[in-house]
Amino acid sequence: MDEKDKRKGPMNVQEQIRAVPSDSTEHFDVIIAGAGISGVGAAYHLTTQCPGTSFVALETQNSFGGTWRTHRYPGIRSDSDLHTFGYRFKPWTSAPIATAAEILSYMGEVIEENGLAPHIRYGHTISSARWSSRENLWTIEAVRADTGEVARFTANFFWMCQGYYRHAEGYTPEWNAMGSFKGRIVHPQKWPDDLDYKNKKVIVIGSGATAATLIPAIAGECAHVTMLQRSPTYFRTGRNAIEIAETLRTLQVDEAWIHEITRRKILHDQDAFTRKTFEEPEAAKKDLLSAVEAYLGPDYDIATHFTPSYRPWRQRIAFIPDGDLFQGIKSGKASVVTDEIDRFTETGILLKSGKTLEADIIVTATGFNLSANGDIEFEIDGKPLDFADTVTYRGMMFTGVPNLVWVFGYFRASWTLRVDLVADFVCRLLKHMKTIGARKVTPALRPEDSNMHLLPWIDPENFNPGYMMRGMHLLPKRGDKPEWQHNQDYWAEKDEFPAIDLGDRAFVYD
Ligand SMILES: Cc1cc2nc3c(=O)[nH]c(=O)nc-3n(C[C@H](O)[C@H](O)[C@H](O)COP(=O)(O)OP(=O)(O)OC[C@H]3O[C@@H](n4cnc5c(N)ncnc54)[C@H](O)[C@@H]3O)c2cc1C
Repeated sequence: MDEKDKRKGPMNVQEQIRAVPSDSTEHFDVIIAGAGISGVGAAYHLTTQCPGTSFVALETQNSFGGTWRTHRYPGIRSDSDLHTFGYRFKPWTSAPIATAAEILSYMGEVIEENGLAPHIRYGHTISSARWSSRENLWTIEAVRADTGEVARFTANFFWMCQGYYRHAEGYTPEWNAMGSFKGRIVHPQKWPDDLDYKNKKVIVIGSGATAATLIPAIAGECAHVTMLQRSPTYFRTGRNAIEIAETLRTLQVDEAWIHEITRRKILHDQDAFTRKTFEEPEAAKKDLLSAVEAYLGPDYDIATHFTPSYRPWRQRIAFIPDGDLFQGIKSGKASVVTDEIDRFTETGILLKSGKTLEADIIVTATGFNLSANGDIEFEIDGKPLDFADTVTYRGMMFTGVPNLVWVFGYFRASWTLRVDLVADFVCRLLKHMKTIGARKVTPALRPEDSNMHLLPWIDPENFNPGYMMRGMHLLPKRGDKPEWQHNQDYWAEKDEFPAIDLGDRAFVYD
């Protein structure tokens, strides 16, 4: 250590990692892509279930959080409860629907309490991942934001926690004459810090979870907000509180117990509701619509604006805490228009009905661009890999792709439930490979699967939001057997995953 370094004191682990010259290759047992809720969960489970495993999480952003850091629009909050969106291992102690700031603070505590910070490298965008069967290694390259240099790593196992959509840019359809609009057009994924919406007329195009959280957050300050939708969406509403958690807290029950009991209660109720949407869709629909009517009153046109034509749960159902969206509508600060866009004008939008909507700002809450592979260039033994050519093993591994797992959560239950389940599986698999001396595991269709029907990743009859329909061709195929699909059923997978037979012929070891 020279004099200058001595004055600074010993480098912490993060600094030591950063100090590695860019022309060297570092090796880790596991590389994690991303430090969102999935990547941080993966890091926690590796340290606790596979101690001694060397690993690093490479993250594009300059901090952790993923979705909860990149989305900065007013009101950004979860649409599912944090008892189940939180990890199973760290109690959530606040109101169930949480702001992005609260979620980031919770994740920060997970990182701090478990010493995960030295394992995360920010400002590293993974650009390529190449598997070599000769070396049984992934070679992973990441572009550093600070220097622009390419950092090179090797890893035995690649844990893809990069989410499912492109963070850099949201999806905005191309409407007629968009360029003629004299005001500002903004996508919520790129909310400008300087956007002044005070006393302005705002149109929010879309009626998904983003629109439903953004509108009540800005309605108080805008002159008026119009939610413009082509077709309606289902919402759930109620108090932002879980009664059983409140009761247990009053009884001074330990928070770890409250977390577990509340999770079980929520999951039990969600299971019952999900089953109802399949078995008695009309009754489920009635339940949802009467809750909306309770806020908006009998004279409001719920049939036009809040009654979708599809069965509930075919698209994600956002939870509206304390009915804030409906209260905004009831107060007259916000309104809903169900119509189609003919074209943009200098001052707003002309609708197909002939009606015009005036606006100073137009927000396009029109969804994501699906990205199945984090925009990483993949190669297997020198051949480019297109995930769409593979078949998924339970929505987390892929035929012909060795030593790789992708975390793709649930739509009808909290994403994080699957982060924990997949992590248990990966840690069990890594330990199994060590025990049997295998360096490579590749999912493969078994002889009994040879005539299996191959289908798109998800059945549109089951779940069909726009971003999935637009990007389905990018996603791996599914088979018609439980092993070869992401069935989106937490309640089945919580029992099936721990029972997965690692000796099954679907896993080919070398
Ligand atoms: C506004 C919004 C609200 C949501 N609310 C809920 C909710 O309430 N409940 C729920 O269950 N789900 C919700 N979701 C879905 C949500 O995205 C997931 O639940 C969850 O946050 C995804 O976590 P993740 O870590 O898998 O992915 P992400 O949060 O997308 O994080 C992935 C991380 O990987 C990084 N990354 C990507 N590619 C690369 C690369 N090539 N190299 C390095 N790093 C890379 C990204 O920068 C990012 O930080 C919501 C989504 C959005 C957009």
